[in-house]
Amino acid sequence: MPDALASQVAAGEVVERPASVVKELVENCLDAGAKEVRVESQRGGVAMIKVSDDGCGMSRDDAVLSLERHATSKLMDKEGLTSIKTLGFRGEALPSIASVSRFRLVSCEHGAVEGTEVTVEGGKLREVREAGAPPGTTVEVRDLFYNIPARRKFLRSEPTEAAHIDYQVRLHALACPEARMIHRKDGRTALDVVATNDRRVRIGDLFGRDLLPKIQEIPLVEYPGMSVGGHLLPPEDARKSRRGQYLFLNGRPVDDRVVWRALEEGFRGALPAGRHPVAWLWLEMDSLLVDVNVHPAKREVRFHRPAELRGLILEAVERALRGGRRERGDLKERRTEPGAGGRPQEVGKGSGERCEQGPQVEKGETGTEQVGVRPRNEREAVAVKGEPVAPARGWQAEVQEELVAAVKAPAAPAFRIVGVLDRSYLVLEASDGLVLLEGEAARERILYERFLAGAEKGVAESQGLLVPVLLELEARDADVALRNAENFREAGMEVESFGGVTVQLRSVPALLNDADPKALLLDLVDELVQSAEGRVAKSLTFEKFAGELAKVGARGERCRMESAQGLLDQLFACDLPYCTPDGRPTLVQYSSSELRRKFGRSH
Ligand code: ADP
Ligand code: MG
Repeated sequence: MPDALASQVAAGEVVERPASVVKELVENCLDAGAKEVRVESQRGGVAMIKVSDDGCGMSRDDAVLSLERHATSKLMDKEGLTSIKTLGFRGEALPSIASVSRFRLVSCEHGAVEGTEVTVEGGKLREVREAGAPPGTTVEVRDLFYNIPARRKFLRSEPTEAAHIDYQVRLHALACPEARMIHRKDGRTALDVVATNDRRVRIGDLFGRDLLPKIQEIPLVEYPGMSVGGHLLPPEDARKSRRGQYLFLNGRPVDDRVVWRALEEGFRGALPAGRHPVAWLWLEMDSLLVDVNVHPAKREVRFHRPAELRGLILEAVERALRGGRRERGDLKERRTEPGAGGRPQEVGKGSGERCEQGPQVEKGETGTEQVGVRPRNEREAVAVKGEPVAPARGWQAEVQEELVAAVKAPAAPAFRIVGVLDRSYLVLEASDGLVLLEGEAARERILYERFLAGAEKGVAESQGLLVPVLLELEARDADVALRNAENFREAGMEVESFGGVTVQLRSVPALLNDADPKALLLDLVDELVQSAEGRVAKSLTFEKFAGELAKVGARGERCRMESAQGLLDQLFACDLPYCTPDGRPTLVQYSSSELRRKFGRSH
């Protein structure tokens, strides 16, 4: 067996929570060409997650091999890393999951007489035996993190974890409509959507068929090396959060701010304040223009041409909103393979402004269409081609609007506050080892979420200044400040022109009323000017603005014993307590085993 410890370390990256297990397992099913994927979960996936498929299955040798670290069948050479075609590619998921759970894999190749069952417990191989099984693969994961109590402690409440699983299943259901997707949650069918080759049908099955008449087609817009298409809802259906926004890059669900910002910019003027458009975007991009390997578990990617990407999205959204020319059928399958559609160096000029080349717009063709835009390997392609589409019937989709939002944050993990280090950190004793909390980072997260919450409710709490502050700024700074006046107002800060380059500050956010108003404004304007977005002659999105404001507001946060518990409570009341808005950790943990190792003890 692989080194169980190395796998546990890798598990820290790959397996953040039960939903990450679901993500990895479902991706493997889809990579294996499954036409039906069944996910079962119990108690938020903490007790049990079981994912079965009717994909290609594995031989006995492959089944055992799949639990070795880096034993991927999907990455043959180093070049492979730059042109990843399947969802999984690191060969780390199965061993990582198996190292932190009681794990059972049953797999059978099509046409094989017998299947194989492999059992692993906490990374230790227990048994490999023959087993009768239908063709395909089933992986069962019980008692996640049973052998790492500290990690288990970090899990949120069962309903929260369950909501994350729901979300993950729905994401994959959207990404791959040609597979039937079933989710049974604590013995109940939470989702069952039939296979289809029409994304709109899948969207309707997942989000409610009553939406279908309102859904607007985003016509396929192409730039060299990239193209986007999809669907969106008109501005009046915008939501209070971004949870209605889905982005698939070459078939993988991803999350990216450049795209979300561009999407909202495209709607500009049409959106009610504090609302976010609902959209499903399928982005295809030459693999040379994007790093998908940024983070193994998170859905982050790094685009090398953000300016062109922004232009592409803006163009697509504007066309969809303007035209309303509803093309029949869905997007024609379109790949932007390297070499096809222009070399990357031809793409735009990287100027930060909209790409000047006119986009080529796909004609409203309605030829045969395939939504399987997720690149598949040959075997899968053969399996899918020409498959009749199951009629839309007997579906039962539990639409859980805003599911994650509805779930209340549970209490903070039990920490004993040991003390304060260097006025900057809280030293905490956890059930397994030592945790350090960075005061500034924690405050930044807290402020950020509060600013957003305030803006969503439309009631930013504000503290009027007895004497308004007048500030004479440099022309560029004054410009940035006034451009963002609306953002300031949403955060509870009234900033207005006082003639020329003088601005007047009349109130500050109640959350920051200890701050020196003048310094606050100057620091914030500095941040805004420095941020890439600040240089573009438009105002920032409120999220971005709130992030900058939180950063400035948290600056100089001092940790004190008296307020330590309060800080912890506030942090764990947040949606995402573990990192700042721009992704730095708020907490760092040193497990007991790590400490023992550092002191030269092997166990
Ligand atoms: P990766 O997906 O990065 O290759 P994983 O650890 O997720 O790594 O899986 C390891 C290997 O196990 C895969 O490359 C694949 O060959 C095999 N495998 C995993 N799950 C399945 C499945 N559901 N059906 C068929 N093969 C699978
Ligand atoms: Mg995988």
